Amino acid sequence: MSINTKQTLKCPKCGQMSDITVWNSITVSDSPDLKDDLLKGRVNVFRCPSCNQVGLMSVPMLYHDEDKRLMISFSPTNDVVLAEQLYENVAETSKESGELEKLEGYNLRFVTDYNELLEKILIFDMGLNDKAIEVIKLMILSQEVEKSEQRSARFGKLRDNVLEFMIIDTVENQIYTSSVPKESYDTVWQSLRESGVKPYSFDWERVNPAYATKLLNGFNN
Ligand SMILES: [Zn+2]
Repeated sequence: MSINTKQTLKCPKCGQMSDITVWNSITVSDSPDLKDDLLKGRVNVFRCPSCNQVGLMSVPMLYHDEDKRLMISFSPTNDVVLAEQLYENVAETSKESGELEKLEGYNLRFVTDYNELLEKILIFDMGLNDKAIEVIKLMILSQEVEKSEQRSARFGKLRDNVLEFMIIDTVENQIYTSSVPKESYDTVWQSLRESGVKPYSFDWERVNPAYATKLLNGFNN
């Protein structure tokens, strides 16, 4: 069920008061239009009608796609310590409430970044798995090891059997693109599956570069 609350906010720049609808939960089957808005970066984003100031609302949101058996818990924060606490809260609450048992066969993801949320939705929409995607991103970044600290990779699209990634370089202030044949993705996913990685979750998971590093070091799930 999609759930929202109405809030009246004061613009931090010009002081103008305006009403905003804050989405706490989005269920795709209820609200396909809302998913479109989310992918366009319009959900839980404050836009001042007076001065056009834009900012992301600092509110958690749950994204639920029943058809794809995907649930993403989004808690916006840049603080790594807080992120870990929020993750543990979500995992615990879900276990204690018995919700976790009802989500058998689901992929459960916990993210703290709006772009990460959109990336995960895109990945699963394309029928791909983010565990393989994170490993491929590491492989791409490791091609220029000396620059891997200043770069991050983001899945862009899958078209004509080619996966396209954006490589964001914060020092050079550039965005590069990198292409990977779908066949290579299939090979990576296949070998992860053979090493014991499951295409569904037993608990809430943070599938990010740290996760991919652990996988490459031989830990499964
Ligand atoms: Zn304003």
